[in-house]
Amino acid sequence: MAAHIVFLMYHELELAGRTLCQSEPGYVRYILPLETFRAQISWLKQSGWRGVNVSEALRYSGEPGVCITFDDGCETDLIAAAPVLRELGCNATFYLTSGFLGTPSYLSADQVRELDAQGFEIGCHSMTHPYLSDLTDPELKREIADAKLQIETILGHAITHFSCPGGRYDERALRTARQAGFASVANSQFYANSPSTNPYELGRVAMLRNLSLEDFADTCRGHGLWKKRLQHEARRGAQRVFGNRAYDRLRAVLLGEPRQ
Ligand SMILES: [Zn+2]
Repeated sequence: MAAHIVFLMYHELELAGRTLCQSEPGYVRYILPLETFRAQISWLKQSGWRGVNVSEALRYSGEPGVCITFDDGCETDLIAAAPVLRELGCNATFYLTSGFLGTPSYLSADQVRELDAQGFEIGCHSMTHPYLSDLTDPELKREIADAKLQIETILGHAITHFSCPGGRYDERALRTARQAGFASVANSQFYANSPSTNPYELGRVAMLRNLSLEDFADTCRGHGLWKKRLQHEARRGAQRVFGNRAYDRLRAVLLGEPRQ
């Protein structure tokens, strides 16, 4: 197991008195209070584990560590996560949805440059956050290649890592990412990565708000991922049977979300 590394997937963080970007239960499920996040990163430090970004993780040093990633580009990346990570000596990759930048509660272009200047890694999470497997080829190019250019224009340098919105992708999406110059694509399937993992199919474990510190430690060690994978595959099965849209409506009903 020495060269295996688990990639953690975070989203927005919850701060006292601050309204979240979205309020549906299906979204909030993935939102950790800042104190929970701090406790997790503190556990890493106390345990002598490193928290690294995607480029560092893909070197597979074999040292005890996890890869820390954030999706969507919420402003809490800079105002909440980054200070904790810096204080505790960790790095991370922030995958941004380029079309959300500058809208309320998401990072502004200046804030993206600030994260970059602090030494964190910036990646891409599409332009408008669609399910990639639902898109036509021209739409894929826009969501992957054009989004990459938008973020690079803000930063003034290249970015090389992409993560799939909603974890959905297909062969065409991966080919488009490769052709656009991305060196890796992360999904949200529950497996640890190793030198034999295809860099265009990097697994990541979603951090859920109800995860205990004990479960967090187990996740970092790669323990019990098979159970999460089974649950995930049951959901994917439902998505395949019902289709993405119908699945989202079904999930909204089951989680008690308001009908849209
Ligand atoms: Zn996302």
